[in-house]
Amino acid sequence: MPARNILVINCGSSSIKFALVDPDQQAFAISGLAERLGSADAVLHWQRDGIKHSQAIAGDDHRAALAHLLQRVQEATGGQLHGIGHRIVHGGEHFTRAQRLDDGVIAAIRAVAPLAPLHNPAGLLGIEAALALYPELPQVAVFDTAFHQTLPEHAFRYAVPEQLYRDHGVRRYGFHGTSHRFVSARAAEMTGLAVDDSAWLVAHLGNGCSTCAVVNGQSRDTSMGLTPLEGLVMGTRSGDVDPNLHSHLSRTLGWSLEQIDRMLNHDSGLLGLSGLSNDMRSLEQAREEGHAGATLAIEVFCYRLAKSLAAMSCALPRLDGLVFTGGIGENSPLIRSKTVAHLSLLGLKLDEAANARCLRGVSGPINAQGHTRVLVVPTNEERQIALDTLALLD
Ligand code: ADP
Repeated sequence: MPARNILVINCGSSSIKFALVDPDQQAFAISGLAERLGSADAVLHWQRDGIKHSQAIAGDDHRAALAHLLQRVQEATGGQLHGIGHRIVHGGEHFTRAQRLDDGVIAAIRAVAPLAPLHNPAGLLGIEAALALYPELPQVAVFDTAFHQTLPEHAFRYAVPEQLYRDHGVRRYGFHGTSHRFVSARAAEMTGLAVDDSAWLVAHLGNGCSTCAVVNGQSRDTSMGLTPLEGLVMGTRSGDVDPNLHSHLSRTLGWSLEQIDRMLNHDSGLLGLSGLSNDMRSLEQAREEGHAGATLAIEVFCYRLAKSLAAMSCALPRLDGLVFTGGIGENSPLIRSKTVAHLSLLGLKLDEAANARCLRGVSGPINAQGHTRVLVVPTNEERQIALDTLALLD
């Protein structure tokens, strides 16, 4: 079969991550990152055939950077680009699956932007730039929230006045849907179970972290909510706190909403607890060296993760397995071991030798014999976005 090249784009407010995916190939032909866009330090990094390159693109905005990176991408495809898949963070209740882009879809993405005021406008910048450069090329939006639109109402509603839901969309949406969907399907494939007859707990642990209960290929509950702040301890995000913390800090310290937002999203989590770093590798090393903050941050991270997984088990009819994924989930035997140690009531126990072997892309079962499955499954959101894009093009 000839190559089917899909460019996957993930836009932040000052960055564009990209990867060229041919679903028949494991490796990306080219991937990279344009960052510090709009500044004199703007730079494009890319990797092709295992070799890393960088190019200064001073002053480039999203559109100019996209034009630059598309040159590199077209070189890698030999001019055979078949479509573009855009990762969009928030699809609200409007989008339950990926959508081919047209004026109506773009207007709907804009309409839910108040729910993701930093992320959706950045995604729209990428969409507008790509459509301007390639008006004829089919383009698709893939939403982080879409997979969780199967949550039952008792899982997605907050116990606040109904009118806030009805008129303002205040409910739990969940994020990381593309990753939870990809790894739960892979887990079924790896264990010979049918996706539509399987039940998983998934822990996606990267800079952002979330858990998900996946039953028969559908999300039934997840730890993130209206925004990606709810739930687990993350790199710099607090996860759950007492909702009265806002009024407490405002009353006692005179903090503004912006200060509190910033503290909870950027100064908290592993970074806030440890006083050292948001990066789990650094914290594991510091813990080895006896750093008290790093040690505590790891303990809180694992305990809170285990508590969330136990809570998610309420959404499962049975448990076929627990799946670890994301940079931490795929690479940290310590975090997996400490988390599972809190979950013996769910019948979970690790084979520590197998646990130690699973890192840097090595996947597989890590549970002790006779105990419920625990799997390490590398995520691949770009691949899932490319598959969703192709499914709409075919
Ligand atoms: P993002 O959410 O930005 O995609 P990743 O999924 O790459 O992030 O995860 C980043 C996290 O994974 C960081 O905290 C990093 O320290 C952690 N990580 C990567 N490799 C290891 C490792 N070998 N041991 C522990 N943590 C690791």
